[in-house]
Amino acid sequence: MTVLGIETSCDETAAAVVRGPASPEILSNVIRSQIDEHTEFGGVVPEIAARAHIEVLDRIVAEALAEAKCSFDDIDAIAATAGPGLIGGVIVGLMTAKAIAMAAGKPLIAVNHLEGHALTARLTDDLGFPFLLLLVSGGHSQFLMVRGIGDYERLGTTIDDAIGEAFDKTAKLLGLPYPGGPAVEQMARKGDPNRFRLPRPLLDRPGLDMSFAGLKTALRTQAQKLEPVDDQTVADLCAAFQKAVAGVLSARTRTALDLFRERYPDIQPAIVVAGGVAANQEIRSALTEAAEQAGARFVAPPMRLCTDNAAMIAWAGIERLRLGPVDDMNLSPRPRWPLDQISGSVLGSGK
Ligand code: ATP
Ligand code: MG
Ligand code: FE
Repeated sequence: MTVLGIETSCDETAAAVVRGPASPEILSNVIRSQIDEHTEFGGVVPEIAARAHIEVLDRIVAEALAEAKCSFDDIDAIAATAGPGLIGGVIVGLMTAKAIAMAAGKPLIAVNHLEGHALTARLTDDLGFPFLLLLVSGGHSQFLMVRGIGDYERLGTTIDDAIGEAFDKTAKLLGLPYPGGPAVEQMARKGDPNRFRLPRPLLDRPGLDMSFAGLKTALRTQAQKLEPVDDQTVADLCAAFQKAVAGVLSARTRTALDLFRERYPDIQPAIVVAGGVAANQEIRSALTEAAEQAGARFVAPPMRLCTDNAAMIAWAGIERLRLGPVDDMNLSPRPRWPLDQISGSVLGSGK
């Protein structure tokens, strides 16, 4: 089947056409980032985001269909992010999807944005259930056990800032541009990770929760002591920050893999990483190493599918569609929608 996906929950306006579930193929994956609109404010402004989605979504959908050489007639269903996310943007995407579904007489599938991230690895890799997911983005930092479609267990989460958010705030604090992640990573390359010692918050406690706000505060304290901060110091602070984050993530990954082995002694553990922070090379190699040491499979979808995109929404739509009922036109967007509260839990093995 062929599904049109729409994603508007944050600062990317995206539409994609994906075919599957057998031999899945991305026929188009159009993404328009709003970075330029938000740069001068140093972060995403919800009202500006919603307006920008309205302005371009029609065009992005048309582009996705044209690139896939499809018309609405060739599409079997429309999948759209129904939450969680910035409510203005989610409304724009979901209402557009409803309108298309209504006009074209096709079913609508409301997709949880996090479920989109969670299932992406099954689009790109031959991966069965269960597997571990580490979702690290601007709005989320969590470990999930993906047991089946619609069957997710949150094993641990950040108790304060998301990692991407911590990268963005750190960049701002050090006078680096938005988005902070790439800027911090670039500076860190020139820095000495051992000049400053930053804490590894919460690591002394068991479980899989994480904390990143304290790290940023420690960094601010160090920076203030050295005013005015020169370029080398900024680079050293970035390197120390990145090393601390990578350290926390690889320690927690080891714990998560231990838990996997305890629960599923007969299955080779697999850990999937998703979210914008997964672009970070140092974090990637720390996770690869942690997985290798534990004899686990490490799966990182290509970057374009790790950050927000609509191919993952279309794919989640395909995964959901084959399980049966589609969604009601009366459904409402959900600004908050934890994955472990998702409905329609089905399937638990195989691909
Ligand atoms: P959501 O959390 O709802 O998925 P989002 O738009 O914040 O939405 P993404 O687009 O997946 O999430 O990721 C953006 C985040 O990833 C930003 O916080 C950005 O700083 C961070 N990021 C991007 N590249 C890097 C990098 N190389 N290193 C670290 N962080 C990065
Ligand atoms: Mg984004
Ligand atoms: Fe996302």
